[in-house]
Amino acid sequence: MGKLYLIPTPIGNMDDMTLRALDVLRSVDHIYCEDTRNTKKLLSHYDIHKILKSYHMFNEDKKYQEIIKELKEGMDIAVVTDAGYPGISDPGYLVCKKAIEEGCAVTTLPGPTASLTALVTSGIPCDKFYFYGFLNHEVNPKRKELESLVDFENTLIFYEAPHRINETLELMSEILGNRYICIARELTKKHEEYIRGYIDDIIKEGYELKGEMVIIVEGAKIDTLTSNLNSLTIGEHYEYYLKQNIDSKEAMKRVAKDRGVSKSDIYKEIIVKK
Ligand code: SAM
Repeated sequence: MGKLYLIPTPIGNMDDMTLRALDVLRSVDHIYCEDTRNTKKLLSHYDIHKILKSYHMFNEDKKYQEIIKELKEGMDIAVVTDAGYPGISDPGYLVCKKAIEEGCAVTTLPGPTASLTALVTSGIPCDKFYFYGFLNHEVNPKRKELESLVDFENTLIFYEAPHRINETLELMSEILGNRYICIARELTKKHEEYIRGYIDDIIKEGYELKGEMVIIVEGAKIDTLTSNLNSLTIGEHYEYYLKQNIDSKEAMKRVAKDRGVSKSDIYKEIIVKK
């Protein structure tokens, strides 16, 4: 059996290739990549000249079988994407999963990813976090996704495109509240920039945000959230939890806990009075 290597590549600065990544890319039998033109440019910079095969979101369903076959024939295979870690908002998960199922060895090399680069520099707690990646592009599903994150206490990481950033910030302000965020733009590139502040202040500034970006959002401050919820009627408070896809029993339990009353008081108010 050969070995599958998942290899991260630079997110902007070509010098962010590790020596080990270069060694492995030189030594493997085949390199599969998202866009052969991009990877060719990167490898030529390091004087690596190999035939590149394509593996991207539109062909991965078929291509993973070819990779598994080659692994079984004893070949070592590298998978790279256009930038950062394979599998992180990029193809890579499927071939990794299938290779494991087939008993092939899989190794991922450490290297660049926009998510962690942004998180660590954001100044927002980075010990516990939730990587969400891209929100849905449509407004209504995006709204639902944000609603499901509203009482998550740890830092949130999102990827976003420049033409959607303003709409996303508006929705975040409306749904998550005026939280402290960091927009990390063009990481590792010439125009790398960090915009830190409260969402509403950033919206007011009217920045024209271009390029690639990550949004780091501070987690919910549960004390503030609880006091906001306690200012609702019991019915509205209960509805709030139901909208988070929490079942009725658990929703009543949470309302009781927030309000410091017994579950039976909430039950009487919601079910018996109905
Ligand atoms: N696999 C990549 C990784 O590990 O970060 C992510 C690929 S995803 C298709 C592309 C998104 O990652 C961009 O839209 C942006 O949100 C983020 N991104 C990639 N490079 C970036 C950079 N240099 N600066 C800021 N964000 C970046």
